[in-house]
This record gives sequence, structure tokens and C-alpha cells, in this order.
Amino acid sequence: MPPQIYLDSNASNAVLPQAVAAARAAMEQDYGNPSSTHVAGLRAKALLETVRQRAARVLGAGDGRLMFNSGATEGIHTAVLSALVALRERRAAGHPVGRWLVYGATEHKAVPESLTHWNRLLGLDLDIVALPVDGEGRHDLARLHTLAPETALLCTMAANNETGVISDLAGIEQALLTSGSSALWLVDGVQALGKLPLKLAATRIDYAPFSGHKLYAPKGIGLLYVRAGAPFTPLMVGGGQEAGDRSGTENMAGIAALGAVLAVLEDGRTFGSPQQLAARRDQIAAALRSAFRGLCFNTPFDKSLPTTLNFSVPGLASQALLNLFDAAGLRVSAGSACSSGQAAPSHVLAAMQLPDWRSRSAIRLSFGPLVEPQTIADACDAIARCGNALQRSGRLTAPALEDGAPTTVGGEPAAELAIVDAPSLGAFLQRHPDALLVDVRERYEHDAGGGLTMGGCVALNVPMASLNAQADRWLQPQAPPLVFICKSGQRAHRAAAWMRGLGHAQAWFLNGGLTAHSG
Ligand code: PLP
Repeated sequence: MPPQIYLDSNASNAVLPQAVAAARAAMEQDYGNPSSTHVAGLRAKALLETVRQRAARVLGAGDGRLMFNSGATEGIHTAVLSALVALRERRAAGHPVGRWLVYGATEHKAVPESLTHWNRLLGLDLDIVALPVDGEGRHDLARLHTLAPETALLCTMAANNETGVISDLAGIEQALLTSGSSALWLVDGVQALGKLPLKLAATRIDYAPFSGHKLYAPKGIGLLYVRAGAPFTPLMVGGGQEAGDRSGTENMAGIAALGAVLAVLEDGRTFGSPQQLAARRDQIAAALRSAFRGLCFNTPFDKSLPTTLNFSVPGLASQALLNLFDAAGLRVSAGSACSSGQAAPSHVLAAMQLPDWRSRSAIRLSFGPLVEPQTIADACDAIARCGNALQRSGRLTAPALEDGAPTTVGGEPAAELAIVDAPSLGAFLQRHPDALLVDVRERYEHDAGGGLTMGGCVALNVPMASLNAQADRWLQPQAPPLVFICKSGQRAHRAAAWMRGLGHAQAWFLNGGLTAHSG
């Protein structure tokens, strides 16, 4: 097996060596229960409070509460429960609470699931509404402005786990303020920790959950920020730990480890700067582009975390690419880790209204702010090997018949993809006498019609599956303009989009196909 190159940090990470050491010390030496009043207990309590203070500084938590818990899913549930209990009490007291529970359409599943769960259990019966995002994955602020006056709770993540897209939190806050909304506001900060500056108490945010394992702490330790004065109801009661906010004996090994990570973060010298991380992303992006013809990135780099890339390769389903990368030692994922075991295309890319083929082909590649330049260099070599292997196998990258028609070409909107309307084909061929008509139907379709001649031009038959073999010839400097033709126009559309994606400036398709022409 080739050595592992781990590029799935948005799913989870190796634990930082300092964090391992801190956890070990908490288990082997300072193993007292922080609720005990003897010296061992007091030492554990002191450690707990030191980590809490450090977290408060890193997150800019001000006088807000910070409680340790098991991770973001628990934090989300606690926040949603707190908000919904308060709404129920307000309503019982005869105050208006609004009609909507609004969440960003690209939120982690824990958010809508938690809203549905507590809304039902508490009998609130509020309407749950997904706030749409645009093609870049950013929230529709105009729509938010309309919803905000009647919104009871708003949930918007700081950065997306699948695409790395950074939310415009300032814009969201502005929409809440200008619309006079009294909505409570939950911001999932999981993917932002260590990658974006956070000054929680300086914002209108009421709740912000975090998970340690996304930033080099172990799994099973998390944090929840609750703004001072925001409503709060504990999810778990019992021994009264965490000032009664979250009962259960504290996970001291996890807390010690998280403290070590926060110390590194606070120190500011160990993690890569945004510029360094962006340069590493650019290196990987260049390697991907040269390995996979027609590859397109699904999010704009200037609006996403520099540590996350999400891309699609025409004609290759996510699982095929995942298997190829895995064989080369590259550990990446298709969409989010939680959903990559399912065949369904990513709900995040679907919410961005990306064409189906891009959701079905999407791969997420993510690294942490500690990534070594050598890891990036090794990843680029492995990516190049994958590209070569595919090329040799002839598998790359003709659009598969079952793919939906791409509606963007190399990131450009479909409107810019040149089409030739059937009635104007003759005029087009007069303007481009050197144009080559390419019939992309199967050979038997082509032959059954006795070949194909249009506008006095004999069409060459190159079925979709054979396009790849021709592509190099058509990408030479003197290559002729191409007009792809099929029965309905769909396959030809994909072929033209693919050639454009590869850099052919004059690839066209017959709009409506032969069906429209014969009509
Ligand atoms: N929110 C986001 C954005 C995430 O990426 C994740 C994990 O993937 C979660 C919430 C849930 O975190 P956990 O599984 O650690 O509870």
C-alpha cells in the first residue's frame, strides 16, 4: 500500500502531539474528578478552568457562557432546545414569537434534524424553512430580510464543511438588525475554529457550537458558547457539573487535549497563515487541473476557507474518483463524511443548484492549518499519478451517457455555451466552412440512418464513449470548429461543454438535435 496522505481534515484529524501529551497527563497524573474537594480534584478543576479561560480568549466569548460537552451535535441540540423552550414560554405568556425556524439550506444535517426533533417534542409546531443559498453557496440575504421579522430562531453556519464556503455573518447580522428581528441566532462554528477570526461577544450571535476533533483535539470533546443573557436550558441534568449547564463528569482527557490545541492557536506561531494556506490550496488546485481535463471547482476560492477544495470531474462519479485516490494513498471524501456512505448526491451542492452531474461527481479535499509543505507536494505527486493512470486506462474523461447535461462550462454559465439553432445551421456552415460536424450518437444509430449529411457537410461519427480518444487531435492549434450533433441535443450539449472545458474555443452543439431539425 502507498503511504497515506490524509486530506480529509474537515471530517476529522490526527490529534496534535501536544494534545496527546496533555490527555495522557490528565489520565495518568491529574486524574482527579474536578468536583472532588481534595487536592487531586482541585488540580483537575484548575485545569478545567484554565482551558475554559483560554477558550474564552480564543473565541472572544466576553461575558458569555462557555461549557464543555461532547461535540457540536450536542452543542446544536442544547442551543436549539434552549431557544425553543424560551419561545414556548414566551408564547405561553402571550407574547408573539414569530412563525419560522429558519436554517441555511447548506447547514450540517444536525441542524435541521435538531430543529425538527425539538419542534415536535416541545409541541411548538413552528414552520421550518430552509434559507436558500446562491450558486456560490452564500445565503440569500434578500430572502432573509423578508423572513427575519417573523423568524423565531435562525441557524447559519460560519463556514461549510463540504465546500468551505464562508458565510457573510456580518451581512446576516445586518439583515437581522435592519429588519428589527427578535430572532435568536445560532451559528455553527465547527469549521471556522482555527481558520477564521472569531469575536463572538462582539456580535449578535446567541449560540455557537464547536467540535474539538475538527482541529487536532480528540473526538468526543466540544464547546458551546451562549451569549450572556441568551435563554438557556440544559440538555442534561444530574450532578450539576459545568455550573449546572451540562451535567455529567467532565471528559478531562479531552478538555486537557483541547486546551493544548487552543494554546497553540493562541500562540499564533504554529498554524499556517491564511496566505500560506491559500498558496497550498493553489498548489493542489494546479495539480488537479493538470491531472483531470475538464475538472471544475464547485466553490469560488475567494469566498471559501483556504483549507477546503470541492471539485467535480466530468464523466467520473465521486465513488470512482474516491477509489482511485484511495488506491494512490490519498484519503479524501465525497461530500461530508457523515453522508459519504450514502449514494445520494450532496444536499449542499444541490442547494447551490449545481447540475446533478457535478453533485454526483463531487469530491471534497481538505487539510488542516498545520499541513506540512511535504504533504502537499506528496499529494500533488499522487494526484498526477492518478491522472496518468486514468489517461492510460482510456477512462478519462469523456462525459458519461448517464450524466446530466452540464449547465456550466469551466465555471461559466450555460448561457455562454455557444449553440447553433437548427434553422441557422446552413448559415453557420457558410461562415465556418472548415467546421466539422460530429455525430455523437452510437455507431448503430448513425449507420441505421445511412450516415448523416447536413448543410452539404458529411458528419463524422464519434460516439460519446470514444470522444476522449479524439480530444487531443481537436485541441491542436489549427483544429477546426466543432458542431456536435445527436438526437435530442443533450449528448451533444455535454460533448460541447466538455470540449470547451478542455479549452477548445469553438465547440458548439446543434440545439434541439436532429429532432428539432427534422421538425
Ligand atoms: N457542524 C459541522 C459544520 C460539521 O462539520 C460537523 C461534523 O462534521 C458537525 C456540525 C457535527 O460535529 P460532531 O459530529 O463532532 O458532533
